Amino acid sequence: MSSTQHIVIIGGGIIGCTTAYYLSHHPAYSSNTKITLLEASKVGIAQGASGKAGGLIAKWAYPKELVNLSFPEHIKLAEKYDGENRWGWRFLECGSWEGRARAPEETGTGAGKQDKRKSLEKTLGLDEGWKKKRAALGLPDDLDWVDEALTDHYSSMAPTGDTAQVHPYLFTASMLDFAKEKGATFTPGRVTEIRTDSSTGTVSGVVYADPITGELHVIDATHVVLAAGPWSPHILPSLPIIGTRAHSVTIRPTGKISPYALFTEIVLDSDERSTQATPELYARPDNEVYCCGPGEISQVPKTVDDVEVDQAACDSIIENVSGISEQLRDGKIDKRQACFLPIIDISGGPIVGEADSVAKGLIVATGHGCWGICNAPGTAKAIAELIFEGKISCGNLDSLHPSHYLA
Ligand SMILES: Cc1cc2nc3c(=O)[nH]c(=O)nc-3n(C[C@H](O)[C@H](O)[C@H](O)COP(=O)(O)OP(=O)(O)OC[C@H]3O[C@@H](n4cnc5c(N)ncnc54)[C@H](O)[C@@H]3O)c2cc1C
Repeated sequence: MSSTQHIVIIGGGIIGCTTAYYLSHHPAYSSNTKITLLEASKVGIAQGASGKAGGLIAKWAYPKELVNLSFPEHIKLAEKYDGENRWGWRFLECGSWEGRARAPEETGTGAGKQDKRKSLEKTLGLDEGWKKKRAALGLPDDLDWVDEALTDHYSSMAPTGDTAQVHPYLFTASMLDFAKEKGATFTPGRVTEIRTDSSTGTVSGVVYADPITGELHVIDATHVVLAAGPWSPHILPSLPIIGTRAHSVTIRPTGKISPYALFTEIVLDSDERSTQATPELYARPDNEVYCCGPGEISQVPKTVDDVEVDQAACDSIIENVSGISEQLRDGKIDKRQACFLPIIDISGGPIVGEADSVAKGLIVATGHGCWGICNAPGTAKAIAELIFEGKISCGNLDSLHPSHYLA
């Protein structure tokens, strides 16, 4: 294409930043193309789920049409840019652990009080076979950081090579850095409106507020990519997306931790009844363990900077994981955090494609649920093709098209 293009990306999460990367590395990207990424936070990029997620990358994630694109892209990016050292890329084992928690010395942190909370649903993509294998198998020799005496069942959930990980903040920041090296621009700004040319039905620009001063600005655009995660309906209200808040903590354990991601089911004995907690634990290469609890549907605040951390929810995660691992119990708590998953209200998703029923040139890329870190490269590659080539040819993403979700 010879005419000048200005692509504006709304949202500096993993989807927005990775999209900036794939656009700026597409063969058709040239000096005729301007890319601007706008992010609403006063702090910078990836202050939401994209900086605070676990970072699991799995062949068994869903939806398959995006996973099949994204998993090989993650491998390619890691090889090209030394992802191992730059964003903590590595393969790791993934297992299901069931057992009991050692009774905490003190109670009252909220452990076990999870009635309103629900799983993040990462394991929905697995077939049922792995569950049946549980009973027969014991702990692997190198999984020495959960208490064997408290273990009832352990089973591997996926073959070696099918599960990997990144540090999501480092990955996201790297994608934007590489895009900036090619000329993409980062601008702090909370988009308040997408403007359309009524004579052509095409996007014409966006209005945004400076996050510090609140001053309004307008920039012209030939394409707008809406990648604002759970905030996307604040800009396009017809999107059926809701936010689920989830808490997580990171712990620096005592001793070296072997590379496992564990999906746990921990039986907690309280005075009145037996309850269960299901924290996910991911060992990271820098010997940090990421532990996340369940999600709960909650009002998405005005900006990512306003997300509140419920200390009792973090205490509950810490108490539960301390009950099954001495290394975590004696470790140093590093981060206590909360963030919102963008969930499609009516099932399915994410939503990826041109929302031409709203405006030509408006690309929606949101609703990635619990697998947005995994599925970012496939999403971004498809969007770059859509903008520069007029169609997505790297895969068939018809089922994710906005027409299925927007009136
Ligand atoms: C606890 C937890 C664990 C997870 N673990 C994993 C995992 O292991 N593997 C995996 O694949 N996925 C995981 N996920 C899911 C993953 O984190 C999300 O799917 C992904 O981060 C979504 O990315 P995003 O860019 O769409 O949204 P976000 O990360 O929310 O980014 C959206 C950005 O848009 C900005 N924004 C909002 N409104 C505006 C506006 N008006 N103008 C400009 N900018 C705006 C926000 O400030 C934000 O920075 C996890 C999620 C949670 C909550």
